[in-house]
Formats: sequence, structure tokens, C-alpha cells
Amino acid sequence: MSLGWGFIGASTIAKQWMVGAVNAQDDQQVVALMSSNKERGLAFAAENSIARAYQNIDDLLADPKVDAVYISTTNELHYQQVLDAAAAGKHVLCEKPLALNIEDAEQMVAACAQAGVVMGTNHHLRNAATHQAIRHQIASGVIGDVVAMRIFHAVHLPENLQTWRINKPQAGGGVILDIVVHDADTVRYLLGEDPIDVMAYQQHAGMGQSIEDGAMVMMRMPSGALVQSHESFVVPYAGTGLEVHGTKGSIFAKDIMTQQSVGEIELVTEQGREAIPVTPHNLYQHSLEKFGAAIKGAGTPAVTGEDGVKSLAIALAVSRSAVAGVRINVEYPEF
Ligand code: NDP
Repeated sequence: MSLGWGFIGASTIAKQWMVGAVNAQDDQQVVALMSSNKERGLAFAAENSIARAYQNIDDLLADPKVDAVYISTTNELHYQQVLDAAAAGKHVLCEKPLALNIEDAEQMVAACAQAGVVMGTNHHLRNAATHQAIRHQIASGVIGDVVAMRIFHAVHLPENLQTWRINKPQAGGGVILDIVVHDADTVRYLLGEDPIDVMAYQQHAGMGQSIEDGAMVMMRMPSGALVQSHESFVVPYAGTGLEVHGTKGSIFAKDIMTQQSVGEIELVTEQGREAIPVTPHNLYQHSLEKFGAAIKGAGTPAVTGEDGVKSLAIALAVSRSAVAGVRINVEYPEF
């Protein structure tokens, strides 16, 4: 039986990645869309061959062909939309950050659990073949004990996205909830542990309007490893990547903090320098494959709701640290 998706949000990510990623699955289809704007919704549905466009979430949730919803509205709307979807018995794949505070995010996870529906968070990077290969290398022990990790995720925010991200704090704009939250998930995924505390600076480098557009973060891990990351909306030529340094080796990965299936990984040990081969796949298709399988009872989504709460907890601690100028403990809810 085909899994019918209702898309909540006529967004850029839905158009650029998620409609195509659903359509690439043999047994999934986007059957309906909801936009708050009638014309935009109808145009989006027509352009993307989606049968029905709704202006109201209740109408979308009442559509019997909708089995699951993908929520990619602005961040302040995720909370209520997830609660509504769970109450209607729909599976939920929600964009990051799940919410603007931890209490809301916890409630979203609890509502899905209570309704018996699958919940996933659409952090894309864990779905990349490059990140999966790096995790495998670290777990194999080839670089020894991890001592440090450095993440380079400073980019130039494309002009078409220079909207709520740079001028609407109440919508969860700013580089911390936009990019640091992804890096927080990446750290957890690659190192297999959750940061204890963070220290961070943020900056206003000219793009953000009363909202941060750059950050540098330090995280301290339970193992003793230190993590450093740089996120920005205003740096066009830095290139992205990450490094993991261990007692027996180092991993250097270039161009991997991206939505594209690209990037290169090198491992350096006493044996010398070698390229780690990767067979690339589409990140969002991988996310949807895992989500579809989880609905059928096979495994969990690539990134669960609980994972989304934890990446948000880290990002919020980063924000508090940057504002207060002090080290902040990351407080994770009990699940
Ligand atoms: P957009 O700004 O493209 O869309 C967000 C909302 O804005 C849409 O739901 C839509 O509302 C409204 N909107 C869209 N186009 C217009 C327009 N021309 N004029 C006025 N309003 C408009 O957001 P993104 O796609 O960049 O991000 C959406 C969500 O996805 C966010 O939560 C973000 O954090 C996340 N995201 C995740 C990524 C990932 O890789 N995991 C990558 C990029 C974003 P309506 O539906 O009511 O029409």
C-alpha cells in the first residue's frame, strides 16, 4: 500500500528536495498540500503534481488519503501542527528545529508517542553517505580515542532565503536555530555521545536584522573530547567540512555539511593518507526510506523525535551561552 503524504508548508525545502524525494520512493506519494495562502498553495500543487491544496490544517488532516505529514513551515508553527497531526493519527516528519523551546518539543514527542504514530526530525546530514562513513570509521577505532572535532559550517545564505531567517526571531530565525542545531545533531551522531556543556559567541556581521548571523561554539563531551564549530550566513567562500582528531589518526572531510550528495573524506594514520570511498545517495530519499520502513515496523526514522529534542536542547544552550557570555550546561529531558 502506498504511503500518502500531506505536506504542511509550501516551502523552499519542500519544493527543492522533499517532493522529489517522496516521488522517488516506489510506495510513497505526496497527495495533498497545505499553504496559508490560497494562490501560493494552488500554484505549488500544480507545479508539483499534487492532487489537492488546502488552506486549513484541519481539512488536510481530514483527508483520508493522508497517512503522514511532512511539516516544513516556519519554526514557530511546528509545535501546534505536530500536536494536531498526532491527534488526527497521522505519522509526522517535522523539520528542525522542532520548536522554539524544550517544553514544546517534549510535548510534541509525547503527543506522537501517545497517538502511536511515528515521529521523525528531518536533520539531513545523518542521512549522507559521507557522514555514515565517518561514523563507521570512528566506531571502528581506527583513529583511536577521539580527542577533538572541528566543524566548518559557515556559508552564504542564498538571497531567496534571506527572509524570516534574518529578520524574524519569533519565527525561530538566526544561525543558531538554523545551522548550529544541525551541527549539534551531527556531533551526537558521529561521536555517539551528548555534549555536557557549551560555550559560545554569536555575531551580527551585517545580514541579520536584530538577529545573529554567525556563531562559534565549543562543546565538551562526556568522553573528554572537545568540539568546536563555526556557523555563518555571511561567508561565501569558506567551504564546509569537518575534522575528527583521535589518538591514532585523523579524519579530514571536505564539502560535507550540505544538502547535496557530495564531499570527500581522507583518513590519516601511521599507515599514511588514504581516501575513504563513499557511494553517494540522496540524503532526503534516504530519510524517507527509513521513515517509510519505521511506519511498517522496521527500525526507527533516521533521526527520531527524541533526537530532535536533544539537538534543540544543545542549540538553545548555545544561544543562552552566547547571550550571557558564560558556560551553559545542556539539560536533556528524560525519555
Ligand atoms: P521557506 O521560507 O521557503 O518557507 C517557509 C514558509 O514560508 C512556507 O511554509 C510558506 O508558508 C511561506 N512562504 C513560502 N514562500 C513564500 C513567499 N514567496 N512569500 C511569503 N511566504 C512564503 O522556508 P524553508 O524551506 O527555507 O524552511 C522551512 C523549514 O524547513 C524550516 O523549519 C527550516 O528550518 C527547515 N529547513 C530544513 C532543511 C534541512 O535540510 N533539514 C533545509 C532548509 C530548511 P505557507 O506554507 O503558509 O504558504
